[in-house]
Parts: sequence; C-alpha cells; structure tokens
Amino acid sequence: MPRRATKIVATLGPASSDPALLEQMIRAGVNVVRLNFSHGTAQDHIERARLVREAAKRAGREVAIMADLQGPKIRVGKFAEGKVFLQPGQCFVLDAARTELGDVNAVGLDYKALPREVKAKDVLLLNDGLIVIIVDSVKGEAIYTTVKMGGELSNNKGINKQGGGLTAPALTAKDMEDIRTAMSFHADYVAVSFPKNATDMEMARQLCSVAAEDGHRPGLIAKIERAEAIPHLEEILMASDGIMVARGDLAVEVGNAVVPALQKRMITLAREHDRVVITATQMMESMITNPVPTRAEVSDVANAVLDGTDAVMLSAETAAGKYPLETVIEMAKICHAAEGGEMFKLEADFTGKTFTRIDQTIAMGALFTAHHLGAKAIVAMTDSGSTALWMSRHLIQVPIYALTSKIATQRKMTLYRNVRPLLIDTSADRDTALAESENDLKARGIVQTGDVYAITCGEPMGSPGGTNMLKICRVG
Ligand code: PGA
Ligand code: MN
Repeated sequence: MPRRATKIVATLGPASSDPALLEQMIRAGVNVVRLNFSHGTAQDHIERARLVREAAKRAGREVAIMADLQGPKIRVGKFAEGKVFLQPGQCFVLDAARTELGDVNAVGLDYKALPREVKAKDVLLLNDGLIVIIVDSVKGEAIYTTVKMGGELSNNKGINKQGGGLTAPALTAKDMEDIRTAMSFHADYVAVSFPKNATDMEMARQLCSVAAEDGHRPGLIAKIERAEAIPHLEEILMASDGIMVARGDLAVEVGNAVVPALQKRMITLAREHDRVVITATQMMESMITNPVPTRAEVSDVANAVLDGTDAVMLSAETAAGKYPLETVIEMAKICHAAEGGEMFKLEADFTGKTFTRIDQTIAMGALFTAHHLGAKAIVAMTDSGSTALWMSRHLIQVPIYALTSKIATQRKMTLYRNVRPLLIDTSADRDTALAESENDLKARGIVQTGDVYAITCGEPMGSPGGTNMLKICRVG
C-alpha cells in the first residue's frame, strides 16, 4: 500500500461491526474509528471500543477511538402513523405542549424551548433541510407555520433554524454520562456536537478530567455545525485540540453554498493555530449503495486533501452502507493521488514568523533542513506529541515518523497528517535511544544504508516539552 499522509476517520456501525471486516478496514487504511453516541447504550459502546482495540491489534496498526457525543436534540416528536406528508402552502403547527401523537396538522416537540426562540418570519428546516417551514406566529407553546417546501416528515426528525440562534446547551445530561463511558475505555478523542463558543469546549474538557480518574486526557474535537460557532472559530480552536468541519448540520444552518469556502477557511485557520481538522459528511455518500463513488465525490475528497485537511471522514458509508471496505479502499486511493498534486510552500509558511519556544524552533528547524536536504524522513522523538503536531502543520514531501513510548500519545498522533506514529522504548540514555531508533527504522524498511534523515529529541529523555536537539544523520 503506498504511503498516504491524509488520515481516514470511519464511523463504526452495524455494517462494520464484524470483527474480521473491521480488521480489513483498518488494514485498508482506517486511522481513527468514530463511535457515534447518538445510537446505542453505554454497554454497546464499551463493547465496540473493545472490538476496535482487538481488530487494531490483529491488524498490527494503532488506531484512535473518537467518541462523538450526541449533543442537544432539537427535534419534532412522534407521529401516530410514524410519518406524514407535508404539502407546500399548508399550515403546520409545532406544539411544545402537545401530548398526543402528531398528524398532518400538528406535532409535538422534543425541544420544549423552541416556542421562546423563534418569531414570525423565521425559517425552520426539518429533516436536514429537506422540508422548509416559515413561522407565521407563536401563541403560547404553539408555533404556527406555513410549509414552503413539503415532503415526508417522520418521527423525531431534526429541526434547524436558518441563520442559527437556538440556545440549547451543547452538553446535555446524556453527554455527561457518555463522557464517563468514553473515559472508562480511554477514548483518544471526544467530539463535542453543536458547541457555540470556547466555554462549551472548556466545559467538556473539565468533564473529561473529572470522569477520568486515572489521568487519561483525550483530545477534544469541536464539531463546527452551528451558525453561531463561525464568529467564534478562533476562540473555539484555542479551547480545542481540533475541529470537525461538520458539513451536514452546518449546511442546513448557513446554506449549502457557503460551506465550501467556509471549509477552506476552517482548515487554514486550524493549521495556523496548530490544531487538527477533520472534514466530514457525505464525502462518499453514493457508496452507501453503490460500489464506486461519483466523480463529484472523488473531487470533494481530493479538494479537502488539497485544502490541507488532516483527515477525511466516513459516516453512514461505513456505519450502515453496503460497501464499507470498498469505500475505505477508494478513499485511500483518492487521498494518495491528491497528495501528488500538493503545492509545497514551506518558505511562505515561515515568512514573518518568529518562534519563542526552544522545542518549537527545533521542530521547525528539522522541517526546514529535511525539506531542503531532500531527506528520506523526519524522525521526532516525542512524549506529548507536540513536536510531531507542529511539524505536521506544514505541508512537505518528507514523511514524519513520531517515536513515542506512550501508547496514548501514539494513538492521538494517528490523526495528524503526514505523521506515522511508532511505539518505542525511550527510557534509555540519548545515544542509545538514537542508535536504537535508527535500527528500528531500518528494520521497518523506512530508511536504508546511505539515507539521510533528521531526528529531534530532548535531554533528558522522556520529559514532555524538552525537545532541544536536532541531528542530521546518514544511515550507517
Ligand atoms: P453528525 O455530525 O453526523 O453527528 O450529525 C456531522 C455533521 O453534522 O456534518
Ligand atoms: Mn451534526
């Protein structure tokens, strides 16, 4: 399999829960497995996490587990017949006080606060924007609307307000419970749904710290899927380890047409802030039912790669689709091919930049040197993964190998673009560790006699933030 810099996040579901298939998917290129907490019980997730760890072990590849929290449910209630068909021009009432099941004229609301958060002329989007209704008036607990774009509406479909503005808190009581579950199996990443600002992310981080009694610290991913999050992007980035361009809900709130430009901005901004970024939703959508992607999907994945995303994500394609393995294989091929068309502009990245931290300066020095020497590899000995993260924020052709003695760090780094994390024993003194690393890289076929590589490490070995040395080596 050719080396691929862009990472693949795949959502686990009924279509991918067979242990042998999951192992094949990991072999085919899945780097991060996403557990969707919108479905299943705590026990289900604990079981799925075990399944992932075992499959990864059999495949001989480390993968990260991302626990994706459900977030607030802003949804309609249930219908007597399970669903109704709304006609354009008809009236339809969303009634928070309604206790009986819904019909074609009215339905109850899971989200009871909605009548206080909308006013006449607001546009509400149901079922991912497939149905559009306009608010005429609000009387008490009932929202009177006119259907603008009709269609089938079934039980518990989601509601979005165009332009955003619903106040539902990002973290629900269920999310808090789910964080505890995720910490019990050491989820490497926790994705927060519908955060509005940095406070939501800080709150999630605190909940993780309290829940992880053994000191496990997951990376936090903010799913950018609310209109309100856009003006707060920078503060959200600062409070997170990464973001997800969650194009599904985001497109419904801000409109489809502005999402591609937003995606580019978010990817650039995340990299500038030394944060990771995942591009998500409908990337290979047609492969839920077809064995090959459409040209448009191929372009979408390739463009996300060219935008500089760390990872591309699969949702229903791998969770519920007919071709989960084929989708991963196709996606890996597209990523690899798109990487061949990257423009490298390391000098431009550095223009006007100054570095104050020793470890960061060493990391950038290694990058610059390896790039100009045309080195075979950059090797970063890292405890926290920071050196590898900084290096991976710049696109270069030279692959980065991150050597760590910590399994949690290794797993976290599986998401970083152009970083291959390897587990080694770095407890030895520096010279022994350097020699052992070289032997390890040779044994893996990464470098051969005569190859030049750049390696960074710190003294004393094994303390975070201590990187202070860059060595250029020729393999003996
Ligand atoms: P979801 O998030 O799949 O959990 O809804 C992603 C998105 O909205 O794009
Ligand atoms: Mn979403």
